[in-house]
Amino acid sequence: TKPVLALVGRPNVGKSSLFNRLIGERVSIVDDTPGVTRDRVYGESEWSGRGFNVIDTGGIFDENDNILNQVVLQAQLAMEEADVIVFVVDSRDGITPADEEVALELRKSNKAVIVAPNKSEDNPDLHAAEFYQLGFDKVIPISAIHGANTGDLLDEIVYHF
Ligand code: GDP
Ligand code: MG
Repeated sequence: TKPVLALVGRPNVGKSSLFNRLIGERVSIVDDTPGVTRDRVYGESEWSGRGFNVIDTGGIFDENDNILNQVVLQAQLAMEEADVIVFVVDSRDGITPADEEVALELRKSNKAVIVAPNKSEDNPDLHAAEFYQLGFDKVIPISAIHGANTGDLLDEIVYHF
């Protein structure tokens, strides 16, 4: 069976946008208002000849729920189901309490975790530096909308499969 990649992170950081880019079709609806879309959750992708399944955990839980509960549930699901976890954060917001909560949860697992500061199109290096404070070795700033650096992210993802 194919390896599994899970996307976790707060509402509105860009998980659905990244999911769309990874699976290469516009099947997941992106909306400015958190919680109003019923996004597609599962998809298939391929990189460097390696096929894998992708889960957008943001589409599984009710985004109107308490945000801290919700992101913790996302992280727990990802740790159970996934081989590699991409923790999506928002470069414009910096590290938020909900991000800290996710980090705390993900550190309990020995699965590969890659932090992806999204919306990094203005200054990728600066954003990467800040998010190393979350305590994970791999931080790859991306722009899901523009596609910047998503190739580097995919290289790192398939390296762990
Ligand atoms: P989700 O709630 O985590 O699934 O986030 P979405 O993918 O729905 O995106 C939330 C908002 O962020 C939308 O308005 C997107 O257009 C915007 N967004 C997503 N990726 C980027 C990016 O790389 N750069 C910028 N500037 N905006 C983005
Ligand atoms: Mg979404």
